[in-house]
Amino acid sequence: MDFLPVKLLFSPVRIAFLIIWFYLCMYLVQRFEFSPIVPKRLKASMNVLMLVFGPFVLFVFIAAEAAAKILRQGVPFADAVKSAFHRAGQIVDVSHFAGSRSKNSLVLLDSSGKDMFEVFGGGKEKSDRSAIEHTHLLIANALDELASDILIDPISGETFSVRYRVDGMLRTVEEIDFRKCAAIVNSIKAVSSMDIAERRRPQDGAFIAKTPDGNVSFRVASAGVLHGEKLSIRILNIAAKHLSIADVGMSERYQQLVRETISHQQGMILVCGPTGSGKSTTMQAMLCELDFNSRNVITIEDPIEYVLPQASQIEINPKADITFAKALRSVLRQDPDVISVGEIRDAETASVALSASQTGHLVLATLHSSSNAATIVRLMDLGIKPLLISSAVDLIISQRLVRKLCPRCNAVAELTETQIARFQQSKVDMSKIMQAKGCEYCNNTGYKGRIGIFDMMVVDEAVKAQILSDNFSVSNFKNIGDENYKTNLRKQALKLAFAGVTSLAEVKRVTSNLG
Ligand SMILES: [Zn+2]
Repeated sequence: MDFLPVKLLFSPVRIAFLIIWFYLCMYLVQRFEFSPIVPKRLKASMNVLMLVFGPFVLFVFIAAEAAAKILRQGVPFADAVKSAFHRAGQIVDVSHFAGSRSKNSLVLLDSSGKDMFEVFGGGKEKSDRSAIEHTHLLIANALDELASDILIDPISGETFSVRYRVDGMLRTVEEIDFRKCAAIVNSIKAVSSMDIAERRRPQDGAFIAKTPDGNVSFRVASAGVLHGEKLSIRILNIAAKHLSIADVGMSERYQQLVRETISHQQGMILVCGPTGSGKSTTMQAMLCELDFNSRNVITIEDPIEYVLPQASQIEINPKADITFAKALRSVLRQDPDVISVGEIRDAETASVALSASQTGHLVLATLHSSSNAATIVRLMDLGIKPLLISSAVDLIISQRLVRKLCPRCNAVAELTETQIARFQQSKVDMSKIMQAKGCEYCNNTGYKGRIGIFDMMVVDEAVKAQILSDNFSVSNFKNIGDENYKTNLRKQALKLAFAGVTSLAEVKRVTSNLG
C-alpha cells in the first residue's frame, strides 16, 4: 500500500501528516478522558479506540453527519459538509475542555480563608488527595456549565450519584464508588466548616471558590438519608453582574411600567411565582435600575445571591435569630429609601413590609404564589387587611422561566398537520419555529439559558374595588386576574416560540402547569 508512509518516510509532507495524525490521536484521547458525557466504565476502551483510530472516527463522524443532513433534511451537499465540519469543530473545541482547564485555577476555601487541602486531613493520604482533586473537578465542571446546584446522593450501598441543575433541569453527571464519594463528601463538609463525624442530623455550611473570574460562594446542606448522607450544594453569585430589566426578558411596555413604579417615593412591587421561576433575578434587575447615589438601598436576603456594591445587604440567619421580620424592623430604623425583602413568608414580615410601603419607603419583595390573584389571596391568608393590601401594593409581577433553544444545534421544527392548519389560520411564519436537537455544547439537552415571561397587574381603582369587595375570591377576580394572567403568559411563551427563541414543546411544558 503506497498510502502508508513506509517507503517515503523522509517526505516532509508525510512526516507532517504523521505528526498531525499523532497529535489528533493524543488530543482525542485527552478530550474523551475529561468528557463528562462519556461514562466512566467506557473511558478505558474509548481511550484505546481514540489512540488507534482517533482521526478516522472523526472523519466517519463528519461523513455520517453530512449524509444525514443531505438525506433527511435535503440540505445541499456543500452546506451539509460545511455544517458537519462545524459540528466536528465543536466537539474538538478547546473552550469546552471541561475540567482540565479550570480545575487547576480553582481554589476552594473555608469561611476563614483556609484551603481545602489544609482543612481536610492535610490531604496527606493518597486517597484523600485524590478525593480532593475529584472535588475540585466536580466544582470546576459545575461552574463551566453554569449549574445552579450540585446534588450528591447515595443511590445504593455501593454508589453515589452526582447531579447538576442547569437551566432548572437536573442531570446526572457521574456515578462514583461509595468509598471514594464518602471521602469527597467529607472534603466538602470539612471546607464548609461542618462536623464530619455527624452523618445523620441535618447540617448547614458554606465555602468559597476562588476562580480567575472572581469569587463564587457555595451553600451546603447535608442530611442523613436511606443509604447514607446526601449533600445539596447551591452555587451563588454566578451572575453577579449588572442586569437590566430588559435582560430578563420584559417587553418594552412592562419595562416602562416597572421604571415608572420604582421611581415612586413609596409603594410596593411584589414579584411572584413558584420556586425557580426567576424571582430573585428580576429583583436584582429592578435594583440595578435604581440610582444608588440618590437613594439609600437596603436588601434583606436568604441567602445573598447577587452582590450589589452600593447597597447595604443583610443576610438572614435564623440560628442567630436574624429573621426577615426582625431584620426588617431594624432596617426601618436606618432611614432607608428602598427596601428589598428577599421573600415574604410569614404574617409578621408581610405586615411590617406592607406598613413600611405606606410610610415613605419603596418596598420590593418576592412572594411564593402561583398567580397575581393568588398573591392577593396569600396576603389575606397571612392576615393582612384588604384595605392595607389595596392601598399599599402598586404592582404585582407574576413570572415563569422558559428555556432558550441552544444556538448551535436547533433545527427547523417538524409540525403536525393540526399545528400547520392552526398556524396557517393565524398567519404565523412557520419557517422560524425551531425545535430542540442537542449537541455537546448544550449537553444534549437542546437548550441553553433561560428567559422570563411576565404578567403584570397594576393595582388600579378597578383592582382595588375587587380587593375591597365583600365576596373577594380568585374566581371573582377572573376579568382582571387569573384568566388574563394565564393567557398572557401563554401568549408570551408562544411569541418566543414563533421567534425561534424557544420550542413549542417547552411552551407546553411551562404553560401546562399554570393552574
Ligand atoms: Zn446544542
